[in-house]
Amino acid sequence: MSKSISNSDNDMQALVSKLNEYIHAYYVLDNPLVSDSQFDLLYSKLQQLEMDTGIVLENSPTRRVGTSIDTKFAPHTHLSRLYSLDKVNSYQELIDWANKTQKKLDSPIRYVCEYKIDGLTLSLTYENTRLVKAATRGNGIVGETITPQVVAMSSIPKTINFDGILEIQGEGYIKLSDLEQYNLDNPTNQLKNARNGVAGAIRNLDTQVVVDRKVTAAFYHINYIRDNQLQNSISNHIQALQFLKDNGLPQLKNRAFDDINQVVEYIKSIDRDKLDFLIDGMVIKVDDLTQRQELGFTDKFPRWAVAYKFEAIEFSTTVLDISWQVGRTGKLTPLAHLQPVEIGGATVSRATLNNIDDIIRKGVGVGSVVFVRRSNDVIPEILYSVSNTSTKQVDLPDICPVCDSQLVRDGVHIFCKNQRCPKIVCGKIEHWVSKNCMDIEGISQKTIEYLFRLGLLDSVVDLYRLTPQNLQGLDGFGDKKIENLIGNINKSKNPPLSNFLNALGINGVGKKTASDLAQFFQTLDNLSKATLQQLIEIPEVGENIANNILQYFVNPININLLNQLKSLGVQPQQSKVVAGKLNNKKIVITGTLSKPRSYFVKLIKDNGGIVADAISKTVDIVLAGEQAGTKLDKANSLGLNIINESDFVKILGVDD
Ligand code: NAD
Repeated sequence: MSKSISNSDNDMQALVSKLNEYIHAYYVLDNPLVSDSQFDLLYSKLQQLEMDTGIVLENSPTRRVGTSIDTKFAPHTHLSRLYSLDKVNSYQELIDWANKTQKKLDSPIRYVCEYKIDGLTLSLTYENTRLVKAATRGNGIVGETITPQVVAMSSIPKTINFDGILEIQGEGYIKLSDLEQYNLDNPTNQLKNARNGVAGAIRNLDTQVVVDRKVTAAFYHINYIRDNQLQNSISNHIQALQFLKDNGLPQLKNRAFDDINQVVEYIKSIDRDKLDFLIDGMVIKVDDLTQRQELGFTDKFPRWAVAYKFEAIEFSTTVLDISWQVGRTGKLTPLAHLQPVEIGGATVSRATLNNIDDIIRKGVGVGSVVFVRRSNDVIPEILYSVSNTSTKQVDLPDICPVCDSQLVRDGVHIFCKNQRCPKIVCGKIEHWVSKNCMDIEGISQKTIEYLFRLGLLDSVVDLYRLTPQNLQGLDGFGDKKIENLIGNINKSKNPPLSNFLNALGINGVGKKTASDLAQFFQTLDNLSKATLQQLIEIPEVGENIANNILQYFVNPININLLNQLKSLGVQPQQSKVVAGKLNNKKIVITGTLSKPRSYFVKLIKDNGGIVADAISKTVDIVLAGEQAGTKLDKANSLGLNIINESDFVKILGVDD
């Protein structure tokens, strides 16, 4: 049934124009205006509209693959057309796709499952053993010639053993570890993400950019082959991949399954956060090439493959406002208030920015269109903004938004120095009661702020002075709650030393450093008398943190606080001396071991050792696994004691 398309909101022409603008920015300018999830949403809207009305406009993106090519590159007509991929967004849709596909065939399907790398499609042509052409996908029929850029990539063989004509498809990408390093090395010219980084490098006339960004590639498809004998000997995808591998073409892992439910289980087991490359899904392909031929292609994609798309973690939206949050140290953090976006079943309306530098570097202002990364456990982070979308620059505050006192700027940070600022006082108490500190249950941020307003809680010491009488009759405080809270406060009085040190909130001393200090010094008294030299012996305690610790214990305010706590019975336990074979030995773990790193960290700590991150002269043992890199080189050059996993396990007398 045909519906009207004149409704302005659903105006098909407007939707097509908008999508085409986004497609141009994405494929030609390598500078997306919206996130993929936002793009996909609009694209589905257009598809629905086209289905409802039965009308598909001439310039609709649903009619074509990619986009027209940029004239700065010579056009290259692919020997065989390149396609896009059909997509599914749920396991049920994937199973439905498999069932539908199976129905078209007489014999059972074997599926091959591969990573769907989020990079740039590459098409390579080899003739008489030599790489003669490289191109982008373009519109699938004609791509952009990028041969010099691909020749500059060290991972791509310039000659292969095959002397016929071969056209193959793969994906150019940048490893996430290389991206991170590149951004560290180029603070003023950071890459927004791995996908933009690779597209911007390969579609760049300066081939050095490909080298600088360490662009690499993986290949997953023979698009065209002219050699009858070989053609006949390759009858499935796995054999095609083996042929590519034998010719030195890099590949990523793949797995084959006979049952689509096994494919689903495999996809469920993928932890994309653990991969060193960006993927936006998995590709499921029919293995058998004869079956592929029977299934054929639609206008846009093969019927023998489908992409299972992962839930988006990046989205784009508009910054509505920026406010400043005061933390327990007095540091002000900018918080962006966003046009709310529904993503992964949750509505996201706020995102953090680290400091002034972050705002400037990312070009964020009120009105900016920003790309945001969602994370499950922390408040989302703004990654970057689309240039020139801000309508108003961010005003830096000079008065504390909480207590009105004059703010102080220190480098890229702004501080409220009023130690009586309610946010600082309450923030310190919140930190004190938290799980990794004194672990006092039943006292929320709201309760702390309420008791502070009533004058019952002015510092952490006041917690231990609270009586049931103080709390009786207060809003939300029934007898049971009072009993529990007072009980929990009393129970918290003798925490492990590491938790107590974390609770003190000494600048730079977080959970891990507190735990290392506790293990090394064993008592608060020992730590309070420590020397600079002793302190910097501890891994990750540099001179700055060591000085913060030294200053903490001579500051009269802190001495008074510790004395008051002591008089109220609040005293940390002495850390147990771990009578182990590695007593106080500093150990660095490097390379790949047979078990997760956490297993060895626990083993070392249980045996009284200290795990350090960096190689230095003070390291006692280097536990080196497979493929240990620069750390091992450095350890060798310093003549450190380097042992392998089996010797290490023998020293500790561990059986498995
Ligand atoms: P696609 O990128 O989702 O899927 C097809 C591509 O997947 C192939 O061309 C290939 O390069 C790649 N791929 C990676 N690993 C593969 C493997 N193992 N086997 C086969 N192919 C593999 O689809 P598309 O049509 O190329 O592009 C559409 C997508 O691009 C959309 O989903 C959209 O999110 C994104 N896009 C975004 C914007 C934007 O403004 N953000 C604009 C246009 C397109």
